[in-house]
Amino acid sequence: MIKVVFLGPPGAGKGTQALKIAEKFGVPHISTGDILRAAVKEGTELGKLAKSYMDKGELVPDEVIIGIIKERLSQPDVKERGFILDGFPRTLKQAEALDQMLKELSMPLDRVIYLNVDDEEIVKRLLARGRADDTEEIIRNRLKVYRDQTAPLINYYREKGLLVEIYGVGEIEEITKKIEQALGLL
Ligand code: ADP
Repeated sequence: MIKVVFLGPPGAGKGTQALKIAEKFGVPHISTGDILRAAVKEGTELGKLAKSYMDKGELVPDEVIIGIIKERLSQPDVKERGFILDGFPRTLKQAEALDQMLKELSMPLDRVIYLNVDDEEIVKRLLARGRADDTEEIIRNRLKVYRDQTAPLINYYREKGLLVEIYGVGEIEEITKKIEQALGLL
């Protein structure tokens, strides 16, 4: 059973690393970005709403995201194997809602992995990735939103004694190893 949150700026490699750990240890990988992009592709009501925020690099409203996560965390695979949260929480309100959900499930967080990457490297990576919301203007806004709304979670989890900071620049495999060590899997 693994119960972790991956935290870090856009382009830090959260998705890549979260997926590797999830596959290796058979733990559900829950990415709010993936869930929202799937909804956009399917053209559902959620997708239409999400797209209007994602296109500007803004956050989808807390209530919407909290509802999605609450439903996902109530699934049996989570109860059995835990979870790797990638892209949630992204605001203090989401973090507090997560605390409440995990309390109700009696599944306290093991760790929060904070993948730290320098700003210049982030912009370089995101421009190279070329996703629909990876244009320079939207990236700039996502970084601002990250600094204003998500970065405060670093201290929130540090104060709870859950934070492990890992430098996210270098070989992908090396970073995965550091994460595994932080999770006590090696
Ligand atoms: P990134 O690569 O920037 O970390 P993600 O794939 O995690 O991007 O998310 C893409 C977009 O989806 C975000 O810019 C935001 O609009 C929306 N989103 C994802 N997760 C959340 C969340 N927890 N709260 C609000 N919006 C979210």
